[in-house]
Amino acid sequence: MEQEREQTGCRRCGKCCEKGGPAFHTEDRFLIETGVIPLKYLFTIRKGEPAHDNVKGGIVQARSDIIKIKGKKGAWSCIFFEKKTKSCTIYADRPHECRTFECWNPKNLEIIYEKNRLTRKDLLSGIKGLWELVQDHSRRCSFKIINPLLEDIRKNRTPESLEKIRFIISYDDQIRKLTVKKAKMDPDMLDFVFGIPLSEILFKLDKTLLLL
Ligand code: SF4
Repeated sequence: MEQEREQTGCRRCGKCCEKGGPAFHTEDRFLIETGVIPLKYLFTIRKGEPAHDNVKGGIVQARSDIIKIKGKKGAWSCIFFEKKTKSCTIYADRPHECRTFECWNPKNLEIIYEKNRLTRKDLLSGIKGLWELVQDHSRRCSFKIINPLLEDIRKNRTPESLEKIRFIISYDDQIRKLTVKKAKMDPDMLDFVFGIPLSEILFKLDKTLLLL
């Protein structure tokens, strides 16, 4: 049987883009600050949030903010991936991870994967008022508080822990609504500013919470 030739370059199959968009590094900061990639196309995985490790595999707690490009509705596929032509609509301005990743040589991505992650602090700390709001939300809805509560609910179904989680989810929901109403923020930016709604994350993680 004829052996498949070893891959040494991109075949433009699009599989990597269909698996999801990249995470941002400080090298990509200008793409966001110049508006090449608008904030409404991004989401944040917050510190401590359970997330898939694309290099080691498995679910781990994020060590810092991870800012990523959103997927298309109901799919993982990067929002900038054009399925018909198997192409990237921002190819000339694609982020650092996309430039570095070679599916035939994953070592390159492994080297940069955890380095110089771009965070919300890098992008928002200069915006007075908004940054304080983000920090306050991070404190009240911290995964440092949430993760032990979830553990307790899983093991013991403690009513007090359920009540505390319910309160945190409600706060997270209210602050998003208020920010849209009072600060007139585009609702599509909320997943970047405050991360994915806790109601979505937590119900996916633990169906027990559906009983709340
Ligand atoms: S930004 Fe472009 S190259 Fe990167 S994952 Fe999205 S479609 Fe693919």
